[in-house]
Amino acid sequence: MQRKQSNKLYKEAKKYFPGGVNSPVRAFKSVFGSPLFIEKGNGSKIYDADGNEFIDFCCSWGPLILGHNNSKIREKVISAITSGTTFGAPTKLENELAKLILQNNRFIEKLRFVSSGTEAVMSAVRLARGFTKRDKIIKFDGCYHGHTDYLLVKAGSGLATFGTSSSAGVPESFAKETIVLPLNDKEAVKKAFENFKNEIACVVIEPIPANNGLLLQEKSYLEFLREITKANGSLLIFDEVISGFRVGFCGAAGFYGIQPDVVTYGKIIGGGLPVGAYGSSEKIMSCVSPDGPVYQAGTLSGNPVAMSGGIAQLKECLKKGFYQKLETKTQNFVTSINKFAELQGYKLKVFTVGSIFWFAFTELEKVQTSEQIDPKSMEKYKILHNELLKRGIYFAPSGYEVGFVSSAHTSKDLTKAKNAVFESLKFVFKND
Ligand SMILES: *Cc1c(COP(=O)(O)O)cnc(C)c1O
Repeated sequence: MQRKQSNKLYKEAKKYFPGGVNSPVRAFKSVFGSPLFIEKGNGSKIYDADGNEFIDFCCSWGPLILGHNNSKIREKVISAITSGTTFGAPTKLENELAKLILQNNRFIEKLRFVSSGTEAVMSAVRLARGFTKRDKIIKFDGCYHGHTDYLLVKAGSGLATFGTSSSAGVPESFAKETIVLPLNDKEAVKKAFENFKNEIACVVIEPIPANNGLLLQEKSYLEFLREITKANGSLLIFDEVISGFRVGFCGAAGFYGIQPDVVTYGKIIGGGLPVGAYGSSEKIMSCVSPDGPVYQAGTLSGNPVAMSGGIAQLKECLKKGFYQKLETKTQNFVTSINKFAELQGYKLKVFTVGSIFWFAFTELEKVQTSEQIDPKSMEKYKILHNELLKRGIYFAPSGYEVGFVSSAHTSKDLTKAKNAVFESLKFVFKND
């Protein structure tokens, strides 16, 4: 595989950007080689600067549920752009996207558009704090909620109750407002609510944690979170930036049939353009400025170009059988790999929900907490990633990241990918 142009571009990019990238995981630090510079995408495929073609399972980390360069999205976006890109005043396209979402989602009554997932979660937490007039929040080890200060917090060591910042530049005083707990542990949550009675504004969770492996939780656990937050006057925030419009139009809330207080969206909601949103009941949303005291704003929020991307994409998602078809495709792909791995005696399990999958080099039947992921298993992912690239298959450049199947992936693509995985696994397990 030729990487001459990508390497050249990367060398130049390193002069301009820290690590040569504008978002860290793109830098290929967790896999072999350096990043491929992508020139174009079409359907399930991407093409790099050296002309290599790949079937893409990263899909820009989730947004591209229709694949690359979808004609419906392209046409709608182009049509919007010819009338101007932003006005800083309302446009009817905002109404159109909001209506499309609210009419088909029984879990929220009102929403606010922002420009990223980070912004959506940050605003949702502020809303929860403003609504409850409390400061502390609970988050979980193994969930990612964007790069807001008080969400870049990991569990403190030993018996420490409060989190410590997981990034330089986050004041310890901010981290102290965040309580970090392990997933799938009801007792830990109960204890936190006992220790901080009437102090906890919200529990924020990825109901389908998919940023640190795919750590599928029990429905009963999510129901427990629903009950304990309600009993304590705290809000339950479902961060559905990945799961929203992915495991079904109503995301994980719909998938599990659990009503959260606030939901956040990103990724798919913008059809590949920068859109995020947070939504809730009319009552809670009435706290948001200018109706209420919780301030939140955005120069480019709800701009017509981004809205158009979202409208075109979500209209496709609403078509009958869309999610069923996507899920069946994904499950067949995953099942064949799991069967192959079992037959060969490989220590590999592919976990999946909807059109999300995650390759876990483990013997465990379930992986539900970040602690259950063996960091050493990532060495295996590195080999897999590299072997797959050689065979024209693009997976995310980190073993902690999940893969996505889009509606553009054909059965031919999936057969090719499956065979490439089979061949690559031989190299992964060569020395076992
Ligand atoms: C990607 C992601 C975010 C952050 O979204 P950005 O658009 O990258 O700011 C937040 N929460 C979850 C669950 C995500 O997957």
